[in-house]
This record gives sequence, C-alpha cells and structure tokens, in this order.
Amino acid sequence: MSANLPLRPDLEGEKPYGAPELDVPVRLNVNENPYPPSAAVVESIATAVARAAQGLNRYPERDFPRLREALADYLEAESGVHLALEQIWAANGSNEVMLHVLQAFGGPGRTCLTFTPTYSMYPEYARDTLTDYTTRPRRKDFTLDVEAVAAAIKELRPAVVILASPNNPTGTALPLKDISRILEAARGHGPMLGAEVGSPARASDCIVVIDEAYAEFRRSGVPSALELLGKDNPHLAVTRTMSKAFGAAGLRLGYLAADRALVDALRIVRLPYHLSAITQAAALAALSHRDELMAQVASLRDERDALVAWLRAQGLTAYESDANFVLFGPFPDRDAVWRSLLEAGVLIRVVGPEGFLRASIGTPGEMERLRSALAAAVRK
Ligand SMILES: *Cc1c(COP(=O)(O)O)cnc(C)c1O
Repeated sequence: MSANLPLRPDLEGEKPYGAPELDVPVRLNVNENPYPPSAAVVESIATAVARAAQGLNRYPERDFPRLREALADYLEAESGVHLALEQIWAANGSNEVMLHVLQAFGGPGRTCLTFTPTYSMYPEYARDTLTDYTTRPRRKDFTLDVEAVAAAIKELRPAVVILASPNNPTGTALPLKDISRILEAARGHGPMLGAEVGSPARASDCIVVIDEAYAEFRRSGVPSALELLGKDNPHLAVTRTMSKAFGAAGLRLGYLAADRALVDALRIVRLPYHLSAITQAAALAALSHRDELMAQVASLRDERDALVAWLRAQGLTAYESDANFVLFGPFPDRDAVWRSLLEAGVLIRVVGPEGFLRASIGTPGEMERLRSALAAAVRK
C-alpha cells in the first residue's frame, strides 16, 4: 500500500538537506577540520563520558551552567570579550541554535531576511518555523552593500536578519562598522507588536544574527562581532560552533552569545533536556583541550592563502577567504570538474554561483592531491 500521509503541503516534494556522503580518501566538501583529536583528547573525552554514563538514569542539567561558563571562558580567550554565562546559549550544532532563534522570533506573518549567496540551511530554519524567507543579493564581489541592507530592513521589518561572517560559500567577512550600521538600522525596524492584542502598536527591534561558524579562521586584524555585545545591542546574537576550527563536528555542539533577555527567549522554545549528559560531558572535556584542538588553525589558514594564490596562478578566479574553504571558478561545466576530482579520490562541493566550486582546506597532503587532480581536470 502506498503511504497516504498528511504531510504539510509546503513540504510536498522537499528533500532532506545534505551534501553527498561519499566514502572518498580526500573529503573537502563540508568544511571540517581535517585533523582528528589527539590520543590525549580522546582519552579525556572518554573518561568524562564514562563518568556521565554513571548518572544516565537522571535527566541532564537542563540549562547546563558549567558548559555555558566554559564556552564563555573560551570566547574570552579567543576574542578578548568577557561574557556572563547567562549570555551564552548552546544546542546540538549552531543549526539548532539558529532554529531556536526562529522558533522564538519568527513564525507565521514574520520574515527572515538573508543576503545571497549564503548558507543553504537558512531557508530550512524559516520553512520549519513557518517564517517567510526573503533574500536580497550581495554585491558582485560578495561584500554587502550596507545601505541596501539598511533599506531592506526598513522596508520589510523582518523579525530576524541572518548574516554569515565569514560567509559560506564565499569566505567574505563583514567589517564591524558595517555590522554596527546594520544594528542601528535594525533598531525599531522589527515586526510591529501589540496590535494583535488590542494595545497600541509599537515597533520591536529586528534581531541581527551574525553567524560566525568560521570566525577562528579570520585573518589577523579582522574583529569578531562579539565586540559589539554589551554596547547596547540587545538585538544582536553571535553564533559559533565547535564543528569547524575546533575540530569536533561529530560532537554536535553549537552556541550563541547575546544579551541575557535574548537567551532567555530561546530557553522558552528549547525542548527540555535538549543537550544530553553525554554531549555536555564530551564538550566540557574537549573545551579543556582548546589549545591542542585548535593547534592547526594557523597552518590551515596558511594552506588556504596558498590555495588562493595557486588557483589564481592557474588563471582562475579565487575569492579572498577568512574561512577554511575557498570558492573558485568559473568553469564552463562545473559538474564535470567535480566528477573528475571525485574520480581522482577528491570530494569537494558544487555550491555558490553558477560555474563555481568550493573546496575545504585539508592537510598539506590533501591539498597536494586537490591541486594535481584539479590541474588534470582543467587540462581535459
Ligand atoms: C558549518 C556551518 C554552520 C555550523 O553548523 P553546526 O550545526 O554548528 O555544525 C553554521 N553556519 C554556517 C554558515 C556553516 O557553514
């Protein structure tokens, strides 16, 4: 019998999101850190998880203060910005954190605004929370025209604007002065409140999410939007993750820093006990080894800059990147180039503007295989 399920009409024909999961020697398609944790890190995670397992008959800490404190410590060490644990939120990946943001602030009749090309999960958070999703283009070089952003916010009164910095798939970081200008435009230009319940309408602030999934890879001198927290920006949220520079994508731990009132709003919509005791224990143990886990960030940055230079020397366009990937092209048939690399054992990603491909930064050996496979593919 064929299924006759009451699927929501707006989900008809939708496919589950995800890059192809292929078993290939060189995987450069989802921006992971290529270096696995050391034996010492693995040992310390295993010990912490064993201890947590002894208490698995009990629910975990619902608001995980120790983990939030450890994340605040990490952010202070990484960006020099001091935050209280009440300003930190976490979930199973920053994807879930951003879903919490749209669950709390989006919804029917509200808009989420982004600037394309950008991360392809954003429309899914909007769809899943019944929020309207509106996009406007970035400039040709993928920077943002801040005045156009400000104008779009004023016109649309979105509940949430999401800006990835560095942006995926382009690698483009946003200058702080641009973020400040956008925060200023967002003030008083969120949805109108009150009218539904018969009280006089008043304008809310639009939430500005700066998605800093790749922040640790930024070039020196590029500041973090964390610096704008506490500067009277109660509508700013900065998201981070342990999936990329931190080298713990398999852990599923993403987090957010914001004003306490914003964090408290997210606590309303989270499922109780959404972060398992195992995740909390493993994340705490991993954070205690932060220097070791991030030891390769500097060399990954160097590999990235070397790849950009090499691609340009081949006569290709490669965009400056503050992340651990590079967008390059154009190719008359990018799918053919992608397939040819795959045949050579190198998996990258078909994403971004027509003709372009994105490759994550791997180990020096993996980069060598990418370069030789690409040189061969282009000669074909
Ligand atoms: C990888 C990525 C994330 C991180 O997702 P997690 O759920 O934390 O693994 C967030 N934003 C962007 C733009 C990304 O590329």
